Amino acid sequence: MLPHQSPATERRRSTKIVATLGPASSDPAVLERMIRAGVDVVRMNFSHGSPDDHRARAALVRELCRKTGRTVGIMADLQGPKIRVGKFKDGRVTLKPGDAFILDAACTLGDPSRVGLDYKELPQDVRAGDVLLLDDGKIVFDVERVAGSEIHSRVRHGGVLSNNKGINRLGGGLTAPALTAKDMEDVRLAADITADYLAVSFPKSGKDMYMARELLRAAGGKAFLIAKIERAEAVEREAFEDILAACDGIMVARGDLAVEVGDASVPALQKRMIHVAREHNRLTITATQMMESMIASPVPTRAEVSDVANAVLDGTDAVMLSAETAAGQYPVETIEAMSRICVEAEKSSPVHLDREFLDRVFTRIDQSIAMAALFTAYHLKVKAIAALTESGSTALWMSRLNCGVPIYALTSQTSTRYRVSLFRDVQPITVSYQGHDRDALLEEAEAVLVKNGLVAQGDLIVVSFGEPIGASGGTNTMKIVRVGEHRRA
Ligand code: PGA
Ligand code: MN
Repeated sequence: MLPHQSPATERRRSTKIVATLGPASSDPAVLERMIRAGVDVVRMNFSHGSPDDHRARAALVRELCRKTGRTVGIMADLQGPKIRVGKFKDGRVTLKPGDAFILDAACTLGDPSRVGLDYKELPQDVRAGDVLLLDDGKIVFDVERVAGSEIHSRVRHGGVLSNNKGINRLGGGLTAPALTAKDMEDVRLAADITADYLAVSFPKSGKDMYMARELLRAAGGKAFLIAKIERAEAVEREAFEDILAACDGIMVARGDLAVEVGDASVPALQKRMIHVAREHNRLTITATQMMESMIASPVPTRAEVSDVANAVLDGTDAVMLSAETAAGQYPVETIEAMSRICVEAEKSSPVHLDREFLDRVFTRIDQSIAMAALFTAYHLKVKAIAALTESGSTALWMSRLNCGVPIYALTSQTSTRYRVSLFRDVQPITVSYQGHDRDALLEEAEAVLVKNGLVAQGDLIVVSFGEPIGASGGTNTMKIVRVGEHRRA
């Protein structure tokens, strides 16, 4: 294990930034500034907005990519079975500790004594003694008894409860299915806007992810699937591994997760989940309240700076912004600050390939080449790894270990270019070569890296590719190249 490597040149950011779109980021000029400030993936939150809003936003993002020359992926995020209270006659009520209050599946319009529920089965899922958390845990109820459609509760922590606030049960265990009728519609919308990623809310098992994947494929979508880990059940070892096997990546969805497992459990879970996900060749996004104070302030708090930096040190692929960029006053400044924090934290990210490398088990040819390229790059201290990849999977394997060398995914596939936008350490680059000549392809790869200022004459690089060139099939070759010394036979 090496101590951290100090960067020889000005470093690019390795960790990716996901920014949620909303009213604060709908203006094309603002969105363009956000993209130029470093957004890698935009998140369309399907809990808000109409299908037409999302279609228009997706088109705008693609257009701004063409304009700025940046590659910004699109992640569609399903609302999922978030359980909510209904509406109140006056829009809200104020609850005091000790008050009696009824959650009533049969109630249509709430008043100071009771409110309705969007999930009518909730009374069957809860029992006396359960603790319910409303509005992300700001309000707490103790359940005293359940009678028919009514959940009779005592207010433990009071406050203002307004229309449509969310409900979680401490410890999880609510049975609402992961995909609602609206989600099923929205999966088609995600396919329609050619989303690069589809995030599934509240999955409990791998089955939920398989179902989402089947619906997506049936609708013609090719997106990678992200499982939002936000239920108490989902962090149980067996369920977590089942979900990992069925997804392409996870989101540490700290908002709902903290409500279900208790906020103090989340930091350790974040570390463990990121570690295990990477070991399973899965992507990770760390989400929620990362820069929360920047909704209304142009600078982050010290705690937020540490939180973002710690997620980077945990090895997350991406850090996510929610209300900060969807509804905040400083969307551009937030991205700038987050980017700066990531770059600084990456300088001390541990680079330790040997030990981890020896523990790996892999049987696939393309994966073996990916790991060999990584190992070689690490020991030869090359300037870059160039992975010529159609699907992006070589770049994914390479990026699961931090070898301290930037990875360039060279591809002719547009969908792959957008997909790798979320991979830590990986930058997409377009190559256009269509022929069957290996030397010509390698020359183009070299030329495009030089043209982009990523490598210079005389630099050592590792290139991985599949032979024969032009035939479909996986990566099976690795070559160590000194830039500029490539000669045709
Ligand atoms: P949400 O998911 O923002 O869609 O609720 C993230 C979270 O729960 O942290
Ligand atoms: Mn959530």
